[in-house]
Amino acid sequence: MIIETRPFGPIATNSILLVSAIHKKAYIFDAPQGSCEYWKQKCKRDSLTVVALFLTHSHWDHTVDAAEMKKEFEITATIHPKDAPNLRNPGSDGLPVYFPIAGTEPDNLLDEGQKIELEEFTLQVLHTPGHSPGSVCFYLAEQKLLISGDTLFKGSIGRLDLPTGQPHLMKSSLEKLAQLPGETKVFPGHGEATTIEQERSMIHYLCQEEL
Ligand SMILES: [Zn+2]
Ligand SMILES: [Zn+2]
Repeated sequence: MIIETRPFGPIATNSILLVSAIHKKAYIFDAPQGSCEYWKQKCKRDSLTVVALFLTHSHWDHTVDAAEMKKEFEITATIHPKDAPNLRNPGSDGLPVYFPIAGTEPDNLLDEGQKIELEEFTLQVLHTPGHSPGSVCFYLAEQKLLISGDTLFKGSIGRLDLPTGQPHLMKSSLEKLAQLPGETKVFPGHGEATTIEQERSMIHYLCQEEL
């Protein structure tokens, strides 16, 4: 397994490429501006076939290239149903959109606890509302890896003051993440990677406060 994370677009939003080296297949997590072209070149160089796009949530900075990726790689886009409307109509979530963004139809919808088999990986869907109603994290237990979107960052958590914020739901989402094994490596939607161990005390502290 190879994982590559890279920031794109005006607010340095990470897109993550998960590669099955044996099967020469790649899975993309989140589609910030410019990521489609970048992964296209990389996958061409490394003879990888892009198989699917997964979205941690529908905020525009994570979905700008979703429509383009679906067309370019002939793949499906998968998101939680509560964030699906904003994927279809970017900006309908009330966040200001600074340039035109193409909407796209989600092909598959995610469910809490769902397990998705991808070659040698099993993705477990953790529904983690708070930053947005349909925010999810993708957990790969065997690989000890979490793709956390904008729910958990290194040293902080996702904004709750946006129109999509549901502060009352964030605590249980964070507590769910704090229960994962400490050595789990966390790849967030912005900034550097971290581990559950490193973030656990912050999570426990925040969960005692009013979010
Ligand atoms: Zn966000
Ligand atoms: Zn973001």
